[in-house]
Amino acid sequence: MAVTKVIRGAHIVTMDPGRRELTGSVVIEGNRITAVGEEPELPERTTVIDGRGCVLTPGLVNTHHHLYQWLTRGQAVDHDLFNWLVSLYPVWRGIDPDMVYTAAVASLAQLARTGCTSTTDHHYVFPKTHPGDILGSEITAAAAVGVRFHPTRGSMDLGRSDGGLPPDEIVQDTDEILEASEKAISDWHDPAPGSMLRIGLAPCSPFSASADLLRESAILARERNVRLHTHLAETQAEVEFCEAHLGGSPLEYVSRLGWTGPDVWFAHAVHLDDESIAALAETGTGVAHCPTSNARLGAGIARVRELRAAGVPVGLGVDGAASNEGTSMIEEVRHALLFARARDGADAMTARQALELGTLGGAAVLGRSAELGSIEPGKLADLALWRIDGPLHTGIEDPVVALVMGAPPLVERLIVDGRVIVEEGNVVTADAEKAAKVVITAQKVLWQRAGAG
Ligand SMILES: [Zn+2]
Repeated sequence: MAVTKVIRGAHIVTMDPGRRELTGSVVIEGNRITAVGEEPELPERTTVIDGRGCVLTPGLVNTHHHLYQWLTRGQAVDHDLFNWLVSLYPVWRGIDPDMVYTAAVASLAQLARTGCTSTTDHHYVFPKTHPGDILGSEITAAAAVGVRFHPTRGSMDLGRSDGGLPPDEIVQDTDEILEASEKAISDWHDPAPGSMLRIGLAPCSPFSASADLLRESAILARERNVRLHTHLAETQAEVEFCEAHLGGSPLEYVSRLGWTGPDVWFAHAVHLDDESIAALAETGTGVAHCPTSNARLGAGIARVRELRAAGVPVGLGVDGAASNEGTSMIEEVRHALLFARARDGADAMTARQALELGTLGGAAVLGRSAELGSIEPGKLADLALWRIDGPLHTGIEDPVVALVMGAPPLVERLIVDGRVIVEEGNVVTADAEKAAKVVITAQKVLWQRAGAG
């Protein structure tokens, strides 16, 4: 029989269609939420979680990431995107599957500690010199930490000798990429309801993926019914490059290659014109807004208010740790609010709207609205319980304001698929402290390899 859990006494932010907030109980049976508010008669062996002094939200959904970048935090710290990439590509050339496993555990543990229950990943560096199953490594890491995982099989086929940005040693042939993409879907993708693992396809960007790769990846994704993801319109320089060399705005370019639709989501989308926003809305194409990374690299602030007003699905992303050393999902919620207001005024976004981006918005962007993003009977039990009764938050009357605008609170419990993976701020599944130590060792090897290269 399924294990029953009940969380009692928290301020519950349901994110249901009525956006109800209430104090009461949330009952979980197995991996699903079965009751919200009223508490039915429960079996004797129910696990009780005391939610008093806490706010309970849907688990946060991270819609853009590069887990391997945990290995290169704090590098190229004052660079813009272009120069940051040019400095880091030669280092990333040295990554191998074991390093990626360690980085993924460390990075996923940090996501979990900051309220994230579901995450994607965009892995596009497959060095010829260190072959092996890198995608499999991060999938194993996600299973160890216990988060719901939507990794993408990323790719680059446009190396320096073909006019691209990355070194030739980390790009692959188009056919090799398509074969590996097909295999990743066959080996790992689980389309079933309640899935903990779904694969997407993700050529890296117009600077590193050919038109053929973008077009063929879209065809393959649709044949196999998986989602499509890439970086788009991250910088003004990219817009100028696309207009000068690719025949239009970034969105016009990828649209011609089949890259719009409710099965597509773009990371960043900072520099969009009005026509692009309208086209995203019309086609149901999603956006992963990454405020911290965009600010860290000086890329700009996405037009989130206009995107939301137009009806574009928008979620939040931490982006890789090499451009977001903190890798905190709750901070992404806070930064989304602050940057929207910095850009468009104090009425640009409320605390509840920011939280909505991190929950319902992320679920929509990953195509999981039916199962994730809100606290409702029948939905998957992915929940974050945040402690707000300590000195950091007492005195802030509104619990959602305390959570979003106050200091990042302790995650009292993080529940994924009905299973507790964080208790009192500590990950209780994988050994995050050990991973942090192994990262140091892996970094030394990586720098040696970079020096040797
Ligand atoms: Zn990225």
